[in-house]
Amino acid sequence: LARSDAGALTVERDEFDLSDVVQDCVELLQPLAAEHRVTVDVLDTPAEITADQKLLSQVVINLVSNAIQYNRPGGKVTVSIAKAPSEVLLRVCDTGRGIPPAAQAHVFERFYRADESRANQRHGAGLGLAITKSIVDAHGGRIEVLSELDRGTEFRVHLSRGPIVPRIYS
Ligand code: ATP
Ligand code: MG
Repeated sequence: LARSDAGALTVERDEFDLSDVVQDCVELLQPLAAEHRVTVDVLDTPAEITADQKLLSQVVINLVSNAIQYNRPGGKVTVSIAKAPSEVLLRVCDTGRGIPPAAQAHVFERFYRADESRANQRHGAGLGLAITKSIVDAHGGRIEVLSELDRGTEFRVHLSRGPIVPRIYS
């Protein structure tokens, strides 16, 4: 986050399959899922992209670990990838507590934690989503949140599949 503030977040251009990264991250998070008694499903779609593999792993880990930690026992997380000719859409859905409408606009701010008072036994730093957004922004992508209280939350990450091309407006 500090590197991105300094305009020094270097984005590597690796060619890789995003679904491999998703599989690896989900495997890494299995112990956390088991601890929370949450099932994580991956709807696997091969999706070759040119992007920074390490940074995108961080995005997947942040979103999936939130989806596990803010879920309920017996809950589910579904990670899926959809492809368009020039874009990849990564979706992380959960069956958790949801994010109150007033909080949705703030979750990408640093140190923001929704629901501080309500049985939120987890004490994170409130930085995961701020880091996630700065990585998505550095890729020229877009992240959005859809959530319904007590039903669940979906984070969508839109990424360009090709090398990052600066947008030129006339
Ligand atoms: P950190 O990720 O730095 O350990 P954190 O999880 O609290 O801490 P963020 O990942 O930035 O920080 O999330 C910010 C807040 O948004 C969380 O504290 C939580 O209240 C809310 N939140 C994030 N993801 C979800 C989700 N999937 N369901 C419900 N609430 C969420
Ligand atoms: Mg988090």
